[in-house]
Amino acid sequence: MPEPPSPVSAFCLLLAPYRRVVSAVNTRESGVAKAKVIDGKAVAAELRSRVGDIAARLHDEMNVTTGLAAVLVGSDPASQVYVRAKGRACSTAGLGSFELRFPDDISEAALVAEVEKLNADDRVDGVLVQLPLPGHIDVHRIIAAIDPDKDVDGFHPVNVGRLWSGPSGLVPCTPQGCLNLLRTVHDDLSGADAVVLGRSNLVGKPMAALLLAANCTVTVVHSKSRDAAAICRRADILVAAAGRPQMVKATWINPGATVIDVGINPVPLPDGSSRVLGDVDFDSVCTVAGAITPVPGGVGPMTIACLLRNTLLAACRRRGLPDPLL
Ligand code: NAP
Repeated sequence: MPEPPSPVSAFCLLLAPYRRVVSAVNTRESGVAKAKVIDGKAVAAELRSRVGDIAARLHDEMNVTTGLAAVLVGSDPASQVYVRAKGRACSTAGLGSFELRFPDDISEAALVAEVEKLNADDRVDGVLVQLPLPGHIDVHRIIAAIDPDKDVDGFHPVNVGRLWSGPSGLVPCTPQGCLNLLRTVHDDLSGADAVVLGRSNLVGKPMAALLLAANCTVTVVHSKSRDAAAICRRADILVAAAGRPQMVKATWINPGATVIDVGINPVPLPDGSSRVLGDVDFDSVCTVAGAITPVPGGVGPMTIACLLRNTLLAACRRRGLPDPLL
């Protein structure tokens, strides 16, 4: 008699039909603009829905509830908004979420102890510590205290090393989201000239590592680079993450290039309100680029979607399951 399938192999079979191709490019064209606008909201919604479907199957087939714990220190209003948004996204996708709040004056040692409790908690698959932390706490020490296999932000040195040396562990969410958006335009990135504007640990460096792993020829531009515009003009793929509103102009763009704008820059308006601008001068760059992400509605929505993806990935890997097809 044939052996009945193990719970793990049955789960793998159930994952297979979930491979879907996302059509993300919005063909909307306006005025003289010719670039295709990549709809980050749509790609993110699709990813969140697939995460939700697979998390539901994990629950139904294997009695596993995927869980994310967010640690918030102090009362920074922006951090509170981000943590709430992450909790809401978890609930919508059917993931468990735990929010742990601590006062500004929590000691570094006490915070490490709290992180270690989460590492040991079997209900928790992903741990994130919302940054920034108060000045008396060494952020590196806190990140290093997170179990690398639960480090859904991908900032732990072990995951940084895995990203560069492969196979990758958990990858930082924003650059992972940028790569997903690029994949909606390019089936194969191999051989493409890619320029990353910015070299932060959060975005620029992991983005460069992901593009290199995808066989691009990668150049990283930073504030000491000579003639950033000329370097960017060579790019088939340009990822702008400098935190400088509308720095990238049409004259910086190789005609037909794909431009991913990571920038989120609040700019004050004369009436006292503010608006958010990207690092790319969208209206002018649209006339030269082949495809472009808008701000808002491009990379932004992908970051939380990739956080859910990482949490699900961590849940599967911790249990020896294969990576879900996301
Ligand atoms: P960051 O830590 O401030 O890093 C900015 C990088 O840009 C640095 O490497 C800096 O070079 C470089 N740079 C600054 N001015 C430059 C110039 N004039 N020419 C060339 N390079 C320049 O910022 P980040 O955390 O990477 O974030 C970048 C942007 O992305 C910000 O607007 C941020 O709000 C946004 N962001 C968005 C998301 C999202 O979910 N969409 C997530 C994270 C960040 P040096 O290293 O030489 O100083």
